[in-house]
Amino acid sequence: MSEAEATTSTTDSTEPEKITEDLLEPEAKRRKTAAIQQDEKKYRLEERLGGILCCAVCLDLPKAAVYQCSNGHLMCAGCFTHILADARLRDETSTCPTCRVEICKTLATRNLAVENAVSELPSECQFCNKQFPRNSLEKHEDEECEDRISGCKYHRIGCPWRGPVHERAQHEKECGHPHKSGAEVMEALEILDQQLIEERKLYKTIFELLGYDKITFNDIQLKPYRTDDFVHRLFYESSRFSAFNNQWVVKAKISDNQKDPTQSSERDMTYQLILKSKTSTPLSLSYIVLRGPVGDVKINPRVYNFDFTEQETETPYEHFPLPDTAECNRLLAAKTINFRLIMFLASK
Ligand SMILES: [Zn+2]
Ligand SMILES: [Zn+2]
Ligand SMILES: [Zn+2]
Ligand SMILES: [Zn+2]
Repeated sequence: MSEAEATTSTTDSTEPEKITEDLLEPEAKRRKTAAIQQDEKKYRLEERLGGILCCAVCLDLPKAAVYQCSNGHLMCAGCFTHILADARLRDETSTCPTCRVEICKTLATRNLAVENAVSELPSECQFCNKQFPRNSLEKHEDEECEDRISGCKYHRIGCPWRGPVHERAQHEKECGHPHKSGAEVMEALEILDQQLIEERKLYKTIFELLGYDKITFNDIQLKPYRTDDFVHRLFYESSRFSAFNNQWVVKAKISDNQKDPTQSSERDMTYQLILKSKTSTPLSLSYIVLRGPVGDVKINPRVYNFDFTEQETETPYEHFPLPDTAECNRLLAAKTINFRLIMFLASK
């Protein structure tokens, strides 16, 4: 504004902003435009780098390892394993999607410079919206952000308060829960007990499943697609993968219970497992999704069971166990969703 003020003396001061912009001395005007361009350049450099360092397949900035073909085309670890798996299923040679040169585990290399450069690019904190280098964002969101959501230290005895960390101390000073009687907090303790019992049940189930004869896992990549129905809906689907000598597909939906998910702030994801091959013998299957080596989904593991038969080839849509709406939104923002699906087949 200083340059503008300097020129107001030569003009009618009733409408300074509008007029002075045009009446700026050529030198001052040049300096001002240069400063703006400098600003835009800085801003655009990060964007431009993002465009250069992104995965050539999903166009996302890679969160884990970055691979490149012998011509230097970049692929994130999720897309790379996806291409290899697809080619294996079709019994074809896997090729770089950009230049068609052959790629495989030995014909492609990691690109550490790109991995490191990406981790330095800014990313926005989901709580305070400030920008941080990717490599320090997780620590900031988990431990440092003053706006991250936390609970009252008396939540164990029933205080439902949740709010930003910087308001927590004040709340705890005023919190009424420490003054309640033992009888009053019993109910809260019983709910807590119940949660612990559920958790132990889950671990017991997983340990039992690990004793099964037939266990297999696949690293799944879900890609979004839209339908042309009256109400547009976002779906996800994996490509085919093989397990237990059969072909399978995973499908997922966002906020299936709502008419229009864009109108709601509460979001979740459900998924189903579909058997694509014909089976004459029933398959009694248990399955569980986990984060996996190339995914970055936060999952609270949950085991589902389904008996596949010749007629019953699709599981119901089950809850994809994400911790909260924020995590679901983070997945929606990414171009693909990577996770590991472990399948356990009960032997007869
Ligand atoms: Zn990718
Ligand atoms: Zn290539
Ligand atoms: Zn923050
Ligand atoms: Zn409290």
